Amino acid sequence: MMNKTIKKTKGKLALDAIKCVCESNLRSEVCGFLGWDEKEGFYVVREALNIAEEPEKYFLIDPLEYLLFKEDYDLIAVFHSHLIGDEKPSEFDKKMAFNSCNPFLIYSLNTEKINIYEPENMECNIDMLERIKELI
Ligand SMILES: [Zn+2]
Repeated sequence: MMNKTIKKTKGKLALDAIKCVCESNLRSEVCGFLGWDEKEGFYVVREALNIAEEPEKYFLIDPLEYLLFKEDYDLIAVFHSHLIGDEKPSEFDKKMAFNSCNPFLIYSLNTEKINIYEPENMECNIDMLERIKELI
């Protein structure tokens, strides 16, 4: 596995950690996972490799990284950054969120705001998602 950022935090610091990871790259969309460590009681923010062909416009995560993360933690949301534009999901994002059955947390470097897009068919830790939404 590649050596990507992983942070364990409590409360609002989880969102700060996502912003921080996203702001570390101004040329490619940054993507990763927000999870919950049930045993330790921590949020987990883990960056994933963006394997999209045009990472400045889109993001794509290796399904293996996704599965490995879900082995260790409760997935709350898949996050990614928008380099330009706002924090609203693109049509492509909506389709990907639906296909993966995961909420998408989007951070815009431009507006410095976070948005969570929830597809109708979510399979995630809903309780923890609600808690995260209260922190935005
Ligand atoms: Zn997007």
